Amino acid sequence: MRVVIAQMQHETNTFSPVPTPWEAFGNGGPFLGKAAHEAMKGTRLPMAAYLDLAEAAGAQVITPVAAWANPSGPVDGKAYDRICDLICNEIAKGCDAVFLDLHGAMVVADRTDDGEGTLLERIRAIAPKVPMAVSLDLHANVTDAMVRNCDVIAGYKTYPHVDQYESGHLAGSILLRAMKGEVKPVMAWGNVPLLAQTLRQNTAESPMRECVEAARAAEARGLLAATAFGGFQQADIRDAGLSAVTVADGNRSQAEAACQAILDIAWRRKEDFIYRGEPLEQAIARAKQMAEGGGGPVLLLDHADNCASGANQDTMYVLREALRQGLTGIAVGPVRDPRAVATLIEAGVGAKVTLPIGGKMDMPAIGRKGEPLELTGVVRAITDGEYTITGPQFQGMRCYMGRTAVLDTGTAQIVIIERNQEPWDRGVFTSVGIDPMQAKYLLLKSRMYFRPVFLPIAKGLVFCDAPGVGTSDWTSFEYRKLRRPIYPLDEFPSAHR
Ligand SMILES: [Zn+2]
Repeated sequence: MRVVIAQMQHETNTFSPVPTPWEAFGNGGPFLGKAAHEAMKGTRLPMAAYLDLAEAAGAQVITPVAAWANPSGPVDGKAYDRICDLICNEIAKGCDAVFLDLHGAMVVADRTDDGEGTLLERIRAIAPKVPMAVSLDLHANVTDAMVRNCDVIAGYKTYPHVDQYESGHLAGSILLRAMKGEVKPVMAWGNVPLLAQTLRQNTAESPMRECVEAARAAEARGLLAATAFGGFQQADIRDAGLSAVTVADGNRSQAEAACQAILDIAWRRKEDFIYRGEPLEQAIARAKQMAEGGGGPVLLLDHADNCASGANQDTMYVLREALRQGLTGIAVGPVRDPRAVATLIEAGVGAKVTLPIGGKMDMPAIGRKGEPLELTGVVRAITDGEYTITGPQFQGMRCYMGRTAVLDTGTAQIVIIERNQEPWDRGVFTSVGIDPMQAKYLLLKSRMYFRPVFLPIAKGLVFCDAPGVGTSDWTSFEYRKLRRPIYPLDEFPSAHR
């Protein structure tokens, strides 16, 4: 048995000014061939589960590519073509099954608003009968083209995502069972006109928890797989939003009923999927009060500049307000500013430097110019920015922040990096010699991934609403392609959708 296993993951924020060339994937480009196998094997990612399953089945495994890029603006067309060619060329040589580790929200410049659906259509044209399993992120914007052009879809049931391996394992094992004739997967899918805010998609909290519970209950009743997708809303495409996909064993109406049950819960709870914030000034003042008396760092969450939603990761609004209100003992991480990194490296460890930090990118989609913050401090550390995630999410993944420097202003220690990187592991601080436990405040450009890592050591958390292309305020964006009406941008006078 010859199987093709590949990864192509990108969550595209169509409002983001951050480019996504070939080099944005992997470390300066996707992992290819043997390197893809080596990079994925033993991780907790879906592709690792496929590798384990295929090897246990004694299959000959082909891994043309493992391409994962941080969320950012639309993917470069040529980079997308290259990744798809690598996968399709191996399938064209003939294979018995295809296992794909996809995200499900890829938009490609000058090509397609549905990177995954377009790839799957192309594979189906090459190999109309080849069994194909697909795992998707919980933030997938599911499309008809995706569902129509594969046999099995299973997505993550957790956000923060700590069950990526399990999702790949579920999708892959259903496909293997189907190949043996043990089951006959049939899929149903649907969406609701709801732009659920990412901050309200935490699967440990209501209302997303109820949607996931309904999916798990469907599986407990005998469905092969059921997934509630929160969707990715910083994307101006027709199908952005909350959806569900179910896989039943031969019984289409069972799949459809379970899918509808998940969607009904989401629609009933639509108001609870909307985040309500507070002015930045008030948030910082609240954090200051919270920090009194010590007892662990208070988290300042600059969620609108969260690069895991495709943001620049270089806005300085939250730090500026924190300094204005006299906060001290702040560890900031990380800020992406290659120009500042170069200046700090040239100055060297121990040098005192005054320079503009951050604010290097304009954000035309929200009508803002970049606004750097001029700071004076001592260069405390310079590193290559590499570390391995210790978990629990993305455990085992090697991370590349690019060249990294720490500027210490006396009141704030700022981790400054060359490549976008979510503070999803303590490694963003510990790898540059900062102990996050010792900070009074941790200013994190994070929305959700901080939870399993930083929440256990934190005294409390404050969401800091500042401008950014990762904002939770949908009215900041001008949607042109999105299907309308859609909640909360439009009113729904009746209970019907
Ligand atoms: Zn996600």
